[in-house]
Amino acid sequence: MKDLFDFEIPRQRFAVVGHPVAHSKSPQIHQAFAEQCGLKIGYDAIQLDRGGFIQGIRNLQAGGFKGLNVTLPFKEEARAVSDELSDRARIAGAVNTILFADDGTVFGDNTDGAGLVFDIQDNMGIKLTGRRLLLVGAGGAARGAVQPLLETGLAALSITNRTAERARRLAVDFQQIGSVQALAIEQVGGQRFDVVVNATSAGLSGQVPELPNTIFSDGAIAYDMLYSNHPTPFMLWARSCGVSHAADGLGMLVEQAAESFFLWNNVRPKTDSVIQSLRSGS
Ligand code: NAP
Repeated sequence: MKDLFDFEIPRQRFAVVGHPVAHSKSPQIHQAFAEQCGLKIGYDAIQLDRGGFIQGIRNLQAGGFKGLNVTLPFKEEARAVSDELSDRARIAGAVNTILFADDGTVFGDNTDGAGLVFDIQDNMGIKLTGRRLLLVGAGGAARGAVQPLLETGLAALSITNRTAERARRLAVDFQQIGSVQALAIEQVGGQRFDVVVNATSAGLSGQVPELPNTIFSDGAIAYDMLYSNHPTPFMLWARSCGVSHAADGLGMLVEQAAESFFLWNNVRPKTDSVIQSLRSGS
């Protein structure tokens, strides 16, 4: 006779969708979370064709998937396909996490900005309240970060971008929520910042966004959303400017995943051991 523990726990199915997606660390991260929480899940990396996103999502929903992470280049399409949005996804204008509700509703969330703030404040132990922060970049990742950063009680949030008009538009879009100013690159040089967050994709091609080397205050922190097995070009540049505390975005990646996991499974996993094992390549 079977006792209670002989029955298989239902295996929930999740995936990260993107193009490309084979490089994604999400399957490894979510399996580690599930193991830690005693859950059995399936988690795949699925490449969808550009132009085939909506059909792909419908197929996965019909196939019984419970949730998806969405990565480049589909975060805006994921917002459009969502029937309901969290406040932070609506404000960010992009979705990186989808929950398929039992009634067929597609719920879209954005956990990227929360992941950034968790990593800086909880993992690095740097409280952002009262700090002057420069956000470099005005793409999807920067947009997703603005509201969570404002909620920390920064003294000032400035945004600069290669294409100045995009930074200006971003600042205008968030004016109702908090004090944000856009700075042209040439205006940045006259100021000092306690935290500089690189939200550009310049590092993907080995580049560093054009910035004066005088922007860091004493004891400043440089944070690159890009992550790598080696110090990123932005981290190396910041160190050459005298910054001793430079970090990459691996912790942000794991923290945004933990927020997604919480949305799907109603339990927030611990992240430190997962960050450590990714860092050590195990
Ligand atoms: P995106 O929407 O394509 O935006 C790219 C941004 O980078 C734009 O502001 C663009 O400026 C700027 N840029 C590109 N090349 C540049 C260069 N050579 N010099 C200066 N600026 C340059 O990309 P995204 O989704 O925001 O992603 C940005 C970065 O964040 C990527 O490296 C991504 O991997 C990283 N990210 C990390 C996480 C994580 O969990 N760690 C999560 C999300 C994103 P223009 O407006 O002038 O084109």
